[in-house]
Amino acid sequence: MFTKILIANRGEIACRVAATARRMGIQTVAVYSDADAGAKHVQACDEAVHVGGSAPKDSYLRWERILEAAKATGAEAVHPGYGFLSENEDFAKACAAAGLVFIGPPASAILAMGLKAESKRLMESAGVPLVPGYHGADQDPALLQREADRIGYPALIKASAGGGGKGMRVVEKPEDFAAALASCKREAINSFGSDAVLIEKYLQRPRHIEIQVFGDTQGNCVYLFERDCSVQRRHQKVLEEAPAPGMTESLRAQMGAAAVAAAKAVNYVGAGTVEFIVEQTAYDQPESMKFFFMEMNTRLQVEHPVTEAITGLDLVEWQLRVASGEPLPLAQDQIRIQGHAIEARICAENPDNNFLPATGTLQVYRKPQASSFERNTVRIDDGVREGDTISPFYDSMVAKLIVHGDTREQALARLDTALAQTHIVGLNTNVQFLRHVVRSPAFAKAQLDTALIQRESAVLFKQDPVGLEPAAAAVIADALQSEAAVQGADPFSRRDGWQSHGTTRRRFELEYDGQPVRAVLTYGSQLLLQVGEGAESALQFTPQGDGLWVQFNGQRIHSTVHAQGETRHVFTPQGAARISLLDPLAHAGEAAQEGGRLTAPMPGKVVSFAVKAGDNVKAGQPLAVMEAMKMEHTISAPKDGTVAELLYAPGDQVTEGAELLKLAA
Ligand code: ADP
Repeated sequence: MFTKILIANRGEIACRVAATARRMGIQTVAVYSDADAGAKHVQACDEAVHVGGSAPKDSYLRWERILEAAKATGAEAVHPGYGFLSENEDFAKACAAAGLVFIGPPASAILAMGLKAESKRLMESAGVPLVPGYHGADQDPALLQREADRIGYPALIKASAGGGGKGMRVVEKPEDFAAALASCKREAINSFGSDAVLIEKYLQRPRHIEIQVFGDTQGNCVYLFERDCSVQRRHQKVLEEAPAPGMTESLRAQMGAAAVAAAKAVNYVGAGTVEFIVEQTAYDQPESMKFFFMEMNTRLQVEHPVTEAITGLDLVEWQLRVASGEPLPLAQDQIRIQGHAIEARICAENPDNNFLPATGTLQVYRKPQASSFERNTVRIDDGVREGDTISPFYDSMVAKLIVHGDTREQALARLDTALAQTHIVGLNTNVQFLRHVVRSPAFAKAQLDTALIQRESAVLFKQDPVGLEPAAAAVIADALQSEAAVQGADPFSRRDGWQSHGTTRRRFELEYDGQPVRAVLTYGSQLLLQVGEGAESALQFTPQGDGLWVQFNGQRIHSTVHAQGETRHVFTPQGAARISLLDPLAHAGEAAQEGGRLTAPMPGKVVSFAVKAGDNVKAGQPLAVMEAMKMEHTISAPKDGTVAELLYAPGDQVTEGAELLKLAA
């Protein structure tokens, strides 16, 4: 076994590989770019080498520099992770030339599987079923059109060198073919440097089911069952699970055998994934499922943890063992499926805007509790910490949430709970969207196909499942609790200066869904709250964990509120909501001007006066400072004049509407 490896990657996968290496007593070397100087993966490794600028081409793709780093630190092997150099056969060769072990398949296998068209020809000769299509070398547009006509519509044009869901065009009818071909070729040449394409029958509502394979240098090859990755947006995976719902033993054995045949056809070594597209006539008829080879990924996949969860194996450990020349740890009949696992990819993106990637700082990043009563029921793989930035240089995945349960239902429930406990503030994410998917009847009933998100869009893109009243109650309860924490008072008690005339009222100006909403809190024998035009009802709350149990209007909801300026992010088990708590004193000058009196626009404490009786003041000049809701607010002169009289002293508590000073014209 190696004593030191270099991890030629970043983010969660670099942290993931480092964790297994550490457990196995193998030292690790990280590489990092300018943007990643303080990144989590750098801390996760024993040593780190700076390899260049923030753009991948200046750092994580600079393989000469990475090989130098490996040499300089005495690493014996290089783990490429996924993406970046993981499927670059030149890099695999260069590692060998430099006397380093590339932790992955032989360069020849990467090359053979690298181009979709070539790999399909190879698979055809190995007897692996293919989607009806054309994958020839002749790229004459007229010939391609004839082939599409022969295959039938809708047809799919795919860039042979494509990946990551890019370079694909669905063509509905023959007259659209020429334009789609031209546009696909343009994207392909720009993204992949080659405009070769293949044509395939476009399957209606297919499933994406892939098989994890593993080979060793002794010629053994096994499959570690399947993953269903049908839930996709923009042809990219968002939820992955294992085993595939509805999979029969016989289909699993056939797909496993086909995947092993595919791997053996290229003398595969290490971890690989054979992706199949599966046609089905109905969701509840597994016997109608027909599978076709799509492509082979010659590396560890993002979604490998679901396979780990159901097999109890560590695939990175297997990679390290195989790369160091050991045989596969288990034979096919020793590998078993236990329970069900689902992975959700938490991404910085905007689901409401066609999943456009987002960037920003993780101002709040709270992760779910890993379950203590059972091992490994909730796993979080990430490469970021609270305060870190999701930059435009790398992909938008923030974390992977992997749950395991005895059954799919149990795993689903755990995933929903874990997503509810994932609080991210500071950038847009798909967390709420994922919860909608997980809770949708279609997903719950495993009516899986690659069009699920489109098909169910009516329920998936709906907004705030919490609602105004519970969200407002949570925000106000949180504000009262914070004030109490600062002032050491019981949040339910009427405070000094507030109770002189029986019940005291307090206004909160909120903004919800772009609309102003006023909430009125009444302090009496109990707290009464009215939100907007809603009914007045008792408000009660008690702290629990990092949030509060809030009881209002017949509902009792655990809520956690995170403030970002005036915006309050409310997280509840039902979902998250966003509501603004406007600072009524921010415009105190204007408010105070009403009626010509300088009044306190909300209850609070007088901190200081900036003027004394007899002073001449100019409009806008600060007159007094008040403190309310943990913040200080300055009250300014609404017009020029002379201070006639100060009506309170510093330290006095004042009620809303109390006149603070008299200003003479
Ligand atoms: P990439 O390498 O870009 O990920 P793939 O060939 O793996 O591209 O395809 C990505 C996704 O596109 C698949 O998971 C599936 O959803 C869809 N897809 C690919 N081929 C077909 C097809 N012939 N019919 C229908 N959908 C397809």
